Amino acid sequence: MKTALTIAGSDSSGGAGIQADLKTFSALGVFGMSAITAITAQNTCGVTEIREMDSMIISAQIDAVYTDIAVNAVKIGMLSSSMIIETVAESLERNHAKNIVLDTVMISKSGSYLLKPEAVDTLKRCLIPKALIVTPNLHEASALVGFDVIDMKSMKKAALVLNEMGAAYVVVKGGHLEGDACDLLYDGKEMMVFPNKRIRTIHTHGTGCTFSSAIAAGLAKGLEIKDAVRVAKEYVTIAIKHGFSLGKGVGPTHHFY
Ligand code: PLP
Repeated sequence: MKTALTIAGSDSSGGAGIQADLKTFSALGVFGMSAITAITAQNTCGVTEIREMDSMIISAQIDAVYTDIAVNAVKIGMLSSSMIIETVAESLERNHAKNIVLDTVMISKSGSYLLKPEAVDTLKRCLIPKALIVTPNLHEASALVGFDVIDMKSMKKAALVLNEMGAAYVVVKGGHLEGDACDLLYDGKEMMVFPNKRIRTIHTHGTGCTFSSAIAAGLAKGLEIKDAVRVAKEYVTIAIKHGFSLGKGVGPTHHFY
């Protein structure tokens, strides 16, 4: 059985974070494991509370998994603070982690900070160079590269900068573009555009978590990066198409088993 570890935050409403990651791993036939960095109290209307886990329990979870089980890929999601970023980076280094997918989570769709703005530099310094692939959206890419990423031209420029920062592969997600939701993949040599028609739905909670976990699942199964990204894109597209109303606000994407 292939395995994937998610290092991320818990979402009590089950649509995003650790819960979305584990559902994605299961749906794609990979055994999912988790190290929780923070607990969020949230529902379909927004985040009401956040508690960060302390360094000891975060590194203990990661060490416990790696010292016993072969981890075929790891996905990193919500990190909240510089302290947590440093803890996760050291733990991954100590355990010689491979196939690291870094979802540069910063702000939830409902507007809550899932990464403190002052921690962006720590993310650039400690984790981007360790990542096999990073998956920022337009807002996150802008915060990381220091210029506005708003269209395909600036997405390509941002991908070059993120690759220079040390991420071997970069996907800049175009979900927030005007018009079609094209994503861009850069492998250090070639730019590949993954076109996609926009799906008209409000129920997109957990989309980014689902996409990055699906890439990790593909890598765990031994897919080449380009194939892992293509399959992840197909998976998240179907998950968004079947997003559904749950509660009073933004509903989750759907995971099929
Ligand atoms: N909650 C947690 C714990 C997350 O990790 C994320 C995204 O990574 C979100 C919420 C945000 O989800 P969305 O912006 O899709 O609503």
